[in-house]
Parts: sequence; C-alpha cells; structure tokens
Amino acid sequence: MSCSCHSEKPYEKCCAPYHAGTLLPPTASALMRSRYSGYALGKVDYILDTTHPDHPDNRIPIAQRRKQIEAFCQQTRFEGLEILSSEDGEPYSYVIFRAILSQNGVDGSFTERSQFAKVKGRWLYLKGERPNVSHGSTRGDE
Ligand SMILES: [Zn+2]
Repeated sequence: MSCSCHSEKPYEKCCAPYHAGTLLPPTASALMRSRYSGYALGKVDYILDTTHPDHPDNRIPIAQRRKQIEAFCQQTRFEGLEILSSEDGEPYSYVIFRAILSQNGVDGSFTERSQFAKVKGRWLYLKGERPNVSHGSTRGDE
C-alpha cells in the first residue's frame, strides 16, 4: 500500500513508523506529511498528539475535538498533497502546502502556511494560516 501522504513510497517506509511512535519525524515537513496521512487513515490520537498545546483548537474540549476530527476524517477524501515550500529552522519551521481534498464530491482543497515548533525534540503543529492565493482552481465555497 503506498502511503496516504502521496509520497509514492510504501506506507511502512514512510509514515507508518511515525504513526506507530517508533520514530519521530525528523523535520517539520515529515511531520506535516504524517499528519496528512494520519487524517487520511483516521489516526485521531496521532493528530491530537502532534498538535501543540498552544494551538487554538486546544481551547475546544477534548471530547468535542476528537469528534470533530473523526467526522472530518470520515467525510473527506484525501486526494493529494503538494509541499510548495518549506523553511527549516529551530525551534520554528514553516511549510506551505496544498492539500487536495473533497467532501461529498465538493472540492475542499486549500493552501496553508503551517508553523511548527520543536518541543523537547518533537515537532508539533503550532498553527496554520490560509493565504489568499488561488492556484488556478475555482472555488465556490467560503
Ligand atoms: Zn507518508
């Protein structure tokens, strides 16, 4: 099975060790990819564990967060991922990516600039901004 982060590598040689907790993603980009495939595979605990405590979503009670993530995983098809650029640094790194998604046949794709923070040797997702850039796709939502 090729990995759901669309790396075209086998899952076992890509994001599986991160999801299993046997390896830590070495870079923010690797963490980002493993979170994408985590969503695609419904790895709710992994998504929660790799979200920084200061992320705004952590203001939502955990049971509700868990339900929201589960619903998003179930309702979404994770059709593609492109890393557009990344800026590596410590303790902060940035990754700009385009996620190709659909929900009930409706395009839910977006471009995001994510900020990651390294905390005690682990990369965590701190926050994301959705810049107003269009990538040639027409969007009727929002
Ligand atoms: Zn992967």
